[in-house]
Amino acid sequence: MTRSITLRRPDDWHLHLRDGEVLKAVLRHTTKQFARAIVMPNLKPPITRVALARDYRERILAALDPGEAVFIETILRPLLKDFPALKVVLEHITTESAADFVLADTSGRLGATITPQHLMFNRNAMFTGGLRPHFYCLPVLKRERHRLALRKAATSGDPRFFLGTDSAPHFRALKEAGCGCAGIFNAPAAMHSYCTVFDEEKALGSLEAFSSLNGPRFYGLPPNEDWVTWTRTDYLVPEDIPVPGGATIHPFLGGTKLAWSAS
Ligand SMILES: [Zn+2]
Repeated sequence: MTRSITLRRPDDWHLHLRDGEVLKAVLRHTTKQFARAIVMPNLKPPITRVALARDYRERILAALDPGEAVFIETILRPLLKDFPALKVVLEHITTESAADFVLADTSGRLGATITPQHLMFNRNAMFTGGLRPHFYCLPVLKRERHRLALRKAATSGDPRFFLGTDSAPHFRALKEAGCGCAGIFNAPAAMHSYCTVFDEEKALGSLEAFSSLNGPRFYGLPPNEDWVTWTRTDYLVPEDIPVPGGATIHPFLGGTKLAWSAS
């Protein structure tokens, strides 16, 4: 049984961070695990001009712990414009047909990200013993056959599939509401979850490709040059992440244990 695995530091190719105090409260959960990220703004009011994107980038950099990471930050339209070869990423795919579409592509310009929650749970998770708002995300969790197809694709080592968490922090009160919002804040448990999935699929040997090599190759960037060792040691996901002002964010699998920790 594999007891530990050393991987190049991964990147997160699909991430939401919000702004202001929430940005400051959630960012370190990503920087603890990931070197770089593509930040999808989804702000209100939306970012519609390059100058606004530049300002948002500055606020993210200001919220970083000093001396760490290099962030790639962009929004979808500039992203497509910036790549003259018109590469396309199917973000957070959730279905067997999406996985098959990527596998059938021969252009070499198509990639796909896959989240931890879509690898770990099917739609039943939203209804087990009652309505479970913390499993509600968009696109929603799908049937078991889709989850199995995603697991097969992610763990295959195929270079077109890579890590993108779609981590999206929302206050607990806004999720546990009459009209609860969509989104799962998985940053505190992201790599722990991916390790668990690849371990269950007996595919830890393909994890580094998915987490740390396929994404940079797709985006034409060098892979990270530092390594992190993950060991088979219990990790208790925090029940709640406090946010200044008294609100909390309940993370993905908050209050439960995962079998892998960074050492
Ligand atoms: Zn998203």
